[in-house]
Amino acid sequence: MRLAVLKEDLTVEPRVAGSPDTVRRYLGLGAEVFVASGAGLASGIGDGEYEGAGAKVVADNAAAVAGADIVLGVRRPAAAALAGANRGALVIAIADPHGQEAALGEIAGTGVSLFAMELMPRITRAQVMDVLSSQANLAGYRAVVDAAAEFGRAFPMMMTAAGTVPAARVFVMGAGVAGLQAIATARRLGAVVSATDVRPASKEQVESLGAKFIAVEDEEFKQAETAGGYAKAMSAEYQAKQAALTASHIAKQDIVITTALIPGRAAPKLVSADMVASMKPGSVLIDLAVERGGNVEGAVAGDVVTTANGVKIVGHLNVPGRLAATASQLYAKNLYAFVETLVDKGTKSLAVKWDDELVKATLLTRDGAVVHPSFAPAAV
Ligand code: NAD
Repeated sequence: MRLAVLKEDLTVEPRVAGSPDTVRRYLGLGAEVFVASGAGLASGIGDGEYEGAGAKVVADNAAAVAGADIVLGVRRPAAAALAGANRGALVIAIADPHGQEAALGEIAGTGVSLFAMELMPRITRAQVMDVLSSQANLAGYRAVVDAAAEFGRAFPMMMTAAGTVPAARVFVMGAGVAGLQAIATARRLGAVVSATDVRPASKEQVESLGAKFIAVEDEEFKQAETAGGYAKAMSAEYQAKQAALTASHIAKQDIVITTALIPGRAAPKLVSADMVASMKPGSVLIDLAVERGGNVEGAVAGDVVTTANGVKIVGHLNVPGRLAATASQLYAKNLYAFVETLVDKGTKSLAVKWDDELVKATLLTRDGAVVHPSFAPAAV
């Protein structure tokens, strides 16, 4: 059983899908591991570390993939990169399948089984495979670090001989995995933190971290959580009430961090240009939803914009990748936990249980076709 760890396009993706730790674990499953040279460099892992863990470092992706049974990536590889893999090889990555019918069709044409890690069900058994959580947690932390770096003032209150410095006021919009980590990080830095979310369950979580919860708590709010624990799209009426409450709150904040997402839809617009204009010069907004359309009006994906009134709107792309070493370590472990369920340790060969709910939820292509019910040609 041959397993390949791809080198990503480092201009857009510094993370890597395998770590020395997971290489050792794959060897324990009976795999031979091939790593493309330089795959880990942007995550602080040299070729020698992979070799030390027992991997064979080969010249490039084509050499790693040749004859592979399992191919691991961070982003969905191009079909051409999979040409040398065995027919029926398992290719596992953050596959980003929405609106990518043509690319999925090409990958299906290579005969591989492509799995999308981000479609993993959020059930207890799969928590260890939950790449959305492992990466969002780091994005939430990094959002605060980025905000602190852009902000021209200190976060904690300081009482010094030269005068008293007030604590920064941080408002976190969207208190899921990223938002909760942002709250905890901002609190550790000494900020006065408040947060909002449309899921009623988040109120207790926000308060347990020592932040103030800000929301219109009407009947719609109390019903606003789907069975899967995700946010629902709220009515226009609720959004207007919530916007009025947050507008007055935002005007008093130094830092606003937005993380609000609704699965399968564009990110909700939560901060209008007027709200941005109401903030003091030097204030900072970090929009973690910028790749999904953004929560902040005026946010530009991949850029830091300074508005006419001196407010910075930060729209960094791939925020987990800004902590590539840690993000890779956790992502690699998420992948290993999934691969372990796809292999028979006795025979040291692939043994995919095609009926398993984790497989059914994540499998995009198999035997030459796009098979996922949400992305198969009949569904799109
Ligand atoms: P997400 O990334 O999809 O969204 C981020 C947050 O934005 C969510 O909390 C959502 O409610 C919020 N949001 C959406 N619209 C909003 C609006 N208009 N205003 C304010 N906030 C808005 O969510 P996530 O971080 O992936 O987590 C979603 C839920 O799933 C959380 O309850 C989380 O704890 C839970 N979860 C469960 C597991 C598990 O294994 N059981 C794992 C991870 C997350």
